[in-house]
Amino acid sequence: MPRTLITGGAGFLGSHLCDRFVAEGHDVVCVDNLVTGNPDNVAHLVGHPRFEFVRHDVSTFVYVAGDVDHVLHFASPASPIDYLRLPIQTLKVGSLGTHNALGLAKAKGARFLLASTSEVYGDPQVHPQPESYWGHVNPVGSRGVYDEAKRFAEAMTMAYHRSHGVDTRIVRIFNTYGPRMRLDDGRALPAFMGQALRGEPITVFGDGSQTRSFQYVDDLVEGIWRLLHSGETDPVNVGNPDEVSIKEFAEEVVALTGSSSTITYEPLPSDDPKVRQPDVTRAREVLGWAPTVGRAEGLRRTLDYFRERVEAA
Ligand code: NAD
Ligand code: UDP
Repeated sequence: MPRTLITGGAGFLGSHLCDRFVAEGHDVVCVDNLVTGNPDNVAHLVGHPRFEFVRHDVSTFVYVAGDVDHVLHFASPASPIDYLRLPIQTLKVGSLGTHNALGLAKAKGARFLLASTSEVYGDPQVHPQPESYWGHVNPVGSRGVYDEAKRFAEAMTMAYHRSHGVDTRIVRIFNTYGPRMRLDDGRALPAFMGQALRGEPITVFGDGSQTRSFQYVDDLVEGIWRLLHSGETDPVNVGNPDEVSIKEFAEEVVALTGSSSTITYEPLPSDDPKVRQPDVTRAREVLGWAPTVGRAEGLRRTLDYFRERVEAA
């Protein structure tokens, strides 16, 4: 059976990947320093004969005994409040951490998959965003620590591919939501769900006209599974093209929860992208992939999880 190492495996997305790869029969090594992750996300896997958890900072040398067939590099703070709180760690895990993960893949002859992001497009001037768009990022803005770390990580991945022949994949992930997001991670969905369930005002930043395109986590996991097993070495967008304004999104969450919350408007953070929508032509053509969970259904599936978190808090 293949052995797959997942950095950031105790985080939101990484833990869903651990579940999928264990379910597919892989041996899974989850490497995480828990800086933004939570051991509860993989607690149900601990003790499974094909699952191993290693607490380690991948920005320092990564040693793993035995064969490794795949390295999935997901370690990185991902929510704006996390990477603004941890700017240096974010730059280090995107640069040094990616270098170490690539070095491990090279040493083991493993296939490598990088979790990149729609943030490589920055505040885009092309809409929707195809993979051919080079992006519009402010390198010295506060979000630059994340965006530039991921852009560097993509460049490093392609350099290992071209210079060392490492078999690499790059997934550009668009805003993804679902169970296991931290209630307090500051991203729009957890913030709005928490506020709506507590009956507090919903904090929309700016006038709420900025757009995002939210995908349910199961669709992303399927896209990553297909990309890993494809022959595609160029970046592939994986996201749900159903674009919505943040104000409308807040209203949807209020309606879904049956909350009496009203909307309040707060200042827009600097460099907040005005629009974001994936062009998923490549994923459709190369992976035969398309999202299957619409926002109404995805939000329903996520509501119970957040209700439990709010009640437990
Ligand atoms: P998350 O914060 O829940 O998970 C990240 C995990 O990485 C955490 O468990 C954290 O402890 C771990 N980590 C961070 N630095 C580390 C280090 N130096 N060594 C070891 N572990 C470390 O975030 P997420 O939403 O699950 O994001 C996972 C990956 O997907 C990130 O690389 C992120 O950039 C990317 N991504 C996520 C989204 C999204 O919408 N969720 C969108 C685009 C890209
Ligand atoms: N946002 C908001 N209120 C919040 C949290 C986020 O209006 O409490 C906005 C944020 O400014 C952005 C959008 O929602 O325009 C999505 O934010 P998120 O942090 O989820 O993702 P990202 O900005 O990284 O796409």
